[in-house]
Amino acid sequence: MPVGTQKDYYAILGVSRDAKPQEVRKAYRRLARKYHPDVNPGNKTAEEKFKELSQAYEILGDDKKRQVYDQYGFYSANIPPGGPGPGASTGAGAPGVDFSGFDFSNFDNRDAETEKRGGFGGGFRDIFSQLFNRSGEHEEEAEGPQKGGDLEHHMHLGFWDAIRGTQVRITIGRLETCPTCKGTGSAGGAPITCAACGGTGKGTRQAGTMRFTVTCPQCGGTGRQRRSCQACGGSGFVRKPESFEVRIPPGVDTGSRVRVPGKGNAGVHGGAAGELYIVTEVEPHPIFERKGDNIYVKVPVTISEAALGAKVEVPTLVGPSTIKIPPGTQSGQKLRLRGKGAPSLRSDARGDQFVEVQVVVPRVADERTREILRELARLNPEDPRQELKKYS
Ligand SMILES: [Zn+2]
Ligand SMILES: [Zn+2]
Repeated sequence: MPVGTQKDYYAILGVSRDAKPQEVRKAYRRLARKYHPDVNPGNKTAEEKFKELSQAYEILGDDKKRQVYDQYGFYSANIPPGGPGPGASTGAGAPGVDFSGFDFSNFDNRDAETEKRGGFGGGFRDIFSQLFNRSGEHEEEAEGPQKGGDLEHHMHLGFWDAIRGTQVRITIGRLETCPTCKGTGSAGGAPITCAACGGTGKGTRQAGTMRFTVTCPQCGGTGRQRRSCQACGGSGFVRKPESFEVRIPPGVDTGSRVRVPGKGNAGVHGGAAGELYIVTEVEPHPIFERKGDNIYVKVPVTISEAALGAKVEVPTLVGPSTIKIPPGTQSGQKLRLRGKGAPSLRSDARGDQFVEVQVVVPRVADERTREILRELARLNPEDPRQELKKYS
């Protein structure tokens, strides 16, 4: 990335230009936790975001580098803080030095190599462990416990399991505190020589014919590194599948979220684990149609039942129920059976069942019935299309 389009590190960390070092550090930690590759496996966007954050903090987290960045809009170890002299302006390159074509966005040599190998390895884990462990060489302020991230699991349920509730055994891949290092990310022992810079604390960067000396981003210029835990690569977490039973309460519907406390990812610094949310998808039923806690059933009735009134038996979720069809019931009319709907997740009450009456017209095959129907027409001469005539 050319100098002219250098990223705004303040915007990336979401802090103001006059933010105190402590605020910068806090903002970085908060965001780094959110976007860390271990927490977002396979998420390319989060990965990019995390790299960007690390670059921004590499500069803004260091007083001297930040001073250079504030003055020039980019950072190079070749420029001493305070600038090459009076008259140096912000933005473009320092006088006498041509920065065009220099890729400032790619600050960490090791990251570039890691990417070429197609992996996402040591570099970030080490940064991560530096951040979250006070046992490292860098003096870090004490961090309070942080709750672990929430997880979501989708579950397909049969209609009756959803209505009656059920118990299901599931297997979830959770981030757990690494048992080897107890979450510290450190293998313990004395710090070792930084592998990235060989202990010099410095690295070089080639840009065309120019060579730059940069502070080693791996060790922050100290030349020494904490020994990372082998089991978790220094992150303090391991992903482990866990099987357990979850209780699905009666009444879940498609899109319901059932909370399973403490089965999300492990917390940081002794913080509680996050929550697991089971998101349910419920199979439809051939006759019971569900809308919220109410159930809709279509019930066919004969012309005689609809005209004269009748008692008919209808199926409900809790067994057969008798419903009274009042005389003169029309097709499409809905009758309510109170409390015969689905169990509510929010209260002890149940929804209602609505019975939609469908009047079935007989297929007449004999002369006697035809005669009766003609007789019926003579006795009831009212026109059902009276209303329509107003518009024709
Ligand atoms: Zn570990
Ligand atoms: Zn180093």
